[in-house]
Formats: sequence, C-alpha cells, structure tokens
Amino acid sequence: MVVGAGHAGLAASHFLSARSIDHVVLERGEVANSWRRERWDSLRLLTPNWQSRLPGHRYGGPDPDGYMTMDEVVEFIEGFAKVSEAPVRTGVNVTSVRRAGDGYDVTTSHDRIHARTVVIASGACNRPAVPGFAGAVPPSPAQLTPFDYHGPDELPDGGVLVVGASATGVQLAAELRRSGRPVTLAAGEHVRLPRTYRGRDVLWWMDASGVWEQRYDEVDDLDRARSLPSPQLVGTPDRTTLDLNALTSMGVELVGRWAALRDGEALFSGGLRNVAALGDLKMKRLLATFDEWARPHDLDATVGERFAPTRVPEPARLRLDLRSGEIRTIVWATGYRPDYGWLDVPVVDSKGRLRHDGGVVDSPGLYALGLPVLRRRKSTFIHGIEDDAREVVDHLASHLAERR
Ligand SMILES: Cc1cc2nc3c(=O)[nH]c(=O)nc-3n(C[C@H](O)[C@H](O)[C@H](O)COP(=O)(O)OP(=O)(O)OC[C@H]3O[C@@H](n4cnc5c(N)ncnc54)[C@H](O)[C@@H]3O)c2cc1C
Repeated sequence: MVVGAGHAGLAASHFLSARSIDHVVLERGEVANSWRRERWDSLRLLTPNWQSRLPGHRYGGPDPDGYMTMDEVVEFIEGFAKVSEAPVRTGVNVTSVRRAGDGYDVTTSHDRIHARTVVIASGACNRPAVPGFAGAVPPSPAQLTPFDYHGPDELPDGGVLVVGASATGVQLAAELRRSGRPVTLAAGEHVRLPRTYRGRDVLWWMDASGVWEQRYDEVDDLDRARSLPSPQLVGTPDRTTLDLNALTSMGVELVGRWAALRDGEALFSGGLRNVAALGDLKMKRLLATFDEWARPHDLDATVGERFAPTRVPEPARLRLDLRSGEIRTIVWATGYRPDYGWLDVPVVDSKGRLRHDGGVVDSPGLYALGLPVLRRRKSTFIHGIEDDAREVVDHLASHLAERR
C-alpha cells in the first residue's frame, strides 16, 4: 500500500507495477493534491521544465527552459498517473497504520486493509513549521502561513513582516513588495544562488556537475544536509535572480533572524551580516565547484561571473514593536514539516522525523519516499524521485521475496 498520490507515491507505483507487485495508492484528496491545495496562486516551479522528469514521463512542451505554473504541474503529474496506470483511490484518508502479523493494518476513512508492505509517500511539507512564540504575538498583526496565503489581494494594506528567507520567503517578500506594501524580511541562515551562471540555469550546473547526485551515505553531516533551507530561487519567464540584494533593490528592509518575542516586540538577531557573509561564501564555493567541473568538460575555460556581496543595512534593526501598527501582517515562511499523526508505528523521533536508512524505515516492510536527502541530494525534487523509488522498491521486493 502506498500512502499519497503526489509524484513520489506515483513513482513508487510505477516501479511496483513494473515488478508486478499488487498494490494500491491511497490519496486523501486528488492526484497532486499538495500542488492543487497547498501552494499560492503565483507560484511556479523553481526547477526548469527540462528537469521535470519522472520515470517514463518527461516535459515535452515548447519551452524547456521555462518554469511550470501550478496548473501545469498538476497536469504533468496527472499525466504521469495516467500513463503509468497507477491504481489510485482518491478521497481516501489513511487514518492509521499499525503493525499486525507479517505486515500492517491500515485504517482509512473508508475501510480497513491489510498490507504486507507500506510506502509512506505522504509528503515532507504537510504543515507549515512555525516557531512556538507565534502563539504569543499580539492579536493584531494578522498571521499567515504559506498554506493560507494565496496572493497579496487577501492581505490588509500596510506593512508586512515576512519571516524566513528561503525560496518561499524571498518569493512572498518580492510579491508583497510589488503590491506596494512596505516589507521587512527576517533572514536567518539561507542558501544564496544566482538564477543563471555562465549563461545556463544554475540548476543545470547542479545537475551536470553531479552535485545533486551525491548519495546520502557520502554526505558528511546528514542531519544538517536534511535540514538545509531551500535555495533563494524563483522561476520567472525572465529568469531573474531573487537574492537578498535583489530584494533590497526593490525596497525590502532586511533584518536578522526573528529570535524572540518580548512584551509585544519582535527581537531580531544581530547576526544578519554573518549569515549573509556565510551565504555569499557558500555560493562562491559552489560556483567554484561548477568551474572546476567545467574545465575538463571543455566548457569555456574562463572563470564564471562573480556576484557582489550581500548588502546588509548598517545598522540593521534589532527590534520591531508589533503593537505600533507598522506591521499589519506577519507571514511565516519558516519552513514545512511532515505530518505522521496517522502512523501508529514507533518510527518517528522526538523532532517529528521518520527514522529511516535511505527510505528503509526502522520497521520491517515499511518504506518512505520524498524526504530531504532520502538517498541523494536531489531526493525531494521531482527529477530526484526516479532513482530513489527504483531502489526503495528493489528493497521492498526483496523483503517480500524473503518472507515468501
Ligand atoms: C512551496 C514549494 C515549492 C516547491 N517547488 C519545487 C520545484 O520547483 N521543483 C521541485 O522539483 N520540487 C519542488 N518542491 C518540492 C517537492 O517537489 C514537492 O514538495 C512535492 O509536492 C513533493 O512530492 P511528494 O509526492 O513527496 O509529496 P506531496 O506532493 O505532498 O504528495 C503527498 C500526497 O500524500 C497525500 N497524503 C498525505 N497524508 C495522507 C494520508 N494520511 N492519507 C492519504 N493521503 C495522504 C497528500 O494529500 C498528497 O497528495 C516544492 C515544495 C514546496 C513546498
């Protein structure tokens, strides 16, 4: 049994079918539900179209260098479900999975199923991750997460504090600033990337140079790799770079990480300069890796372009009175987390993370797909699922064969 009909669950289904393993994919909503229900209106993929590839199914349209809108992503994933003839049951919520005999008893909103193996493909981003002190913020400003946010028209006029400077935070800060609102962005540790490097999409370099292929068992600090924020990228037709400098040029005010809340005041870390310098340094190192890779591959031996260091306000504000009316809305772009509330098997650690080794969960016959750096650095991306799903299903098949 596969939980979830996003691209990960469908990829699992593809390889299960290829091995003639009887299975069903249970989906509480519709195919590609997260892209339909949990994303904002203007979002486009930050991965280019040519990179949208699933087992036996790839983008074949006229704009390989473009970035899909949400409708296009849904169509692409639905197309995959159709060509792979995935046995999906939609509108079926899995409410409990518990160990029973040689497998698992699965309770759903409709019935009960006994499955010898279960693949958890329920997503890594089921809920927004919001810091505990959000509950103590004064009643005004309003608070939103990316799950409630659809577009700037739904927000009250006035200032917005966007918390978090990963892909979601920078994209929402830019959109809100363009709507004419004053925007403050609280930036902690972040991953800075230019949209293009040496004339190609930066993700082309990630792909070609093999950075994305690095396996989970070769990564020095796996916990850290698994909790890295998403890169500051946006997919726009004009391939703009959306780093902190771009936001500053648009008039967004940068402050440090929101560290605490005291007497109705947001207190920001004084480390903005340091995290910005670290982001610059890591970007430089990554671009140098691309340069090194380019040389023996006969790709223009000259060194690529260099990017100006991140500009940081001097001094950056350290506090902001949330009762003053300056900020009318807080947008928490502080990350996402999975939801395993339905999983009655003791395989989730105190931080809410699934205990697994490359997708082989710490309970026989239980597997996972679609989590950060599950088996490779590319694991959570659409193009990253094929290799992971093949290998996880290989393991699942040998588990079944052993039991037989
Ligand atoms: C804002 C955002 C932007 C992203 N942009 C990109 C991008 O540009 N390129 C890229 O490659 N990746 C991107 N990703 C990462 C990744 O591709 C997506 O998160 C993708 O949706 C993950 O696919 P999935 O199949 O693992 O999970 P999901 O797509 O979340 O699918 C999980 C499915 O499981 C279902 N489900 C969950 N719990 C249950 C249950 N108990 N019972 C039944 N069904 C259940 C859900 O309804 C859902 O349909 C982005 C992620 C986010 C959050």
